[in-house]
Amino acid sequence: MNKGRLFILSGPSGCGKGTVCKVLLEKNKNLKLSISATTREKRVGEIDGETYFYLSKDQFEDMIKNDELLEFNQGYSGNYYGTPKKYVFDQLEKGFDVLLEIEMNGAKNIKEKYPESIGIFLSPPSFDELLNRLRGRGRESEELIQERFLLAKEEILRVDEYKYAVINEDLNETVDTIVNIINAEKHLTSFIGNKIKSLVK
Ligand code: 5GP
Repeated sequence: MNKGRLFILSGPSGCGKGTVCKVLLEKNKNLKLSISATTREKRVGEIDGETYFYLSKDQFEDMIKNDELLEFNQGYSGNYYGTPKKYVFDQLEKGFDVLLEIEMNGAKNIKEKYPESIGIFLSPPSFDELLNRLRGRGRESEELIQERFLLAKEEILRVDEYKYAVINEDLNETVDTIVNIINAEKHLTSFIGNKIKSLVK
């Protein structure tokens, strides 16, 4: 049995996942973020091996063939994104909890293969706010923003695929709520019960 627990955080583009993850990892030192592999181009400021592992299409397809990915998906851009297995399993075995920040199709695949994983959906407080955040990033064309906005509507309607949902109104409150969810999950008797029973010699 794994000693740590696997958490998945998803939410529409612009809901603030990146910032939430960053603060969450600072607050919870037992939580490790899985670094995904991708075939998309590196953006300014991103670091290979920290933001993603940037791979060629051939390298990525080799990982698929060799069964080295927990899940993978081809994103909006046609680029591959996937979660390398080894890091996740090693950290869980060492007793760390692991966080995957992945989109909803990848999350669904993980849930099917690893039903004990815990999904958390991050929602924007409103559509106006989502549009503001998408535009505020100044990263994408208006056309791409509208595409992401439409996709966000579909994603929000799939919230029931997740065990938990958090509305990201205030960064600190959101992070505190997720810390509480992680703590509660680690105290389920189905997770911790055997350890407690083993106290009885
Ligand atoms: P971006 O290109 O903006 O960094 O990410 C695009 C989308 O890919 C985001 O929704 C992000 O959550 C998702 N993503 C990042 N890593 C993975 C992964 O390993 N697997 C899957 N399925 N999606 C991922």
